[in-house]
Amino acid sequence: MGRTGFFGGTFNPIHSGHIHLAEEAYSKLGLDRLILVPANIPPHKEAHDLCSNADRLNMCRLAAEDHEGFEVSDFELKQGGKSYSVYTTEHFAEMYPDDDLYMMVGSDMLLSFDKWYRFEDILKKVTLAVVSREYDDMDDLKKKADELSAFGSVKIINADPFPVSSTQIRDLIRRGQKYSCYLPEKVVQYIRLKKLYV
Ligand code: ATP
Repeated sequence: MGRTGFFGGTFNPIHSGHIHLAEEAYSKLGLDRLILVPANIPPHKEAHDLCSNADRLNMCRLAAEDHEGFEVSDFELKQGGKSYSVYTTEHFAEMYPDDDLYMMVGSDMLLSFDKWYRFEDILKKVTLAVVSREYDDMDDLKKKADELSAFGSVKIINADPFPVSSTQIRDLIRRGQKYSCYLPEKVVQYIRLKKLYV
C-alpha cells in the first residue's frame, strides 16, 4: 500500500508556485508519487491565452524531470472536453486501488471546492491537501477545511506560501519584463524557444 498524490491545473505555464506546492506535498505527506495533471479545459475558471495542450504537457514534463517521484499524466488532455476532477479521481483510484490517494490544491481552489462538480464523490476517494498561496488566507482555509470535513478528509500542509500566478507570468512576458525567477529553468528555456505568450 502506497501513497499517490495528483495535482491538476491549467499549468499555463507551470511555475515555481506549483512546484513548491508539489514538493511540499510530496515530502510532508510522504508520497510515493506525485502526478501532475494538465487540464484540457479547466471547468473552474476562464482560461486566458491558453497555449497548446502539447506545450503545456511538455512544460510539465520538463518541470517534473528533476524531481524524483514526480510524474506527468495526459489523462485529462486525452479525455478532451471540460476536465472534471471527479473523473480524474476515479481514474487514479482504478490505477492505484491499494494506495491512499491525495488530491492537491492551492488556496483559491480549496475555497471554491464545494462548487466543484460532484465534490462529495471526490472527497469519498481522496484526502484533499491544500498549500496556501498567500500570506493572509490561513483563517479562511481553516474555516473551509472544517466545513468540508463533513464530507471527507482535508489536510492543510504547513508551508510558507510562494505567491505567484501564471497570469502574472504571462503579463510579465507580454510586457517584456523579467520573469525567469518564477519558473523552473527548463521551462524558461522552452518558453523562449517556442516564443510562447509574447
Ligand atoms: P492562472 O493565473 O492562469 O489562473 P494559476 O497560477 O492560478 O493560473 P493554475 O494552473 O490555474 O495556476 O493552478 C493549478 C493549481 O495550482 C490550483 O490548485 C492552484 O490553486 C494552485 N496554485 C497556483 N499557483 C499557486 C501558488 N503560487 N502556490 C500554491 N498553489 C498554487
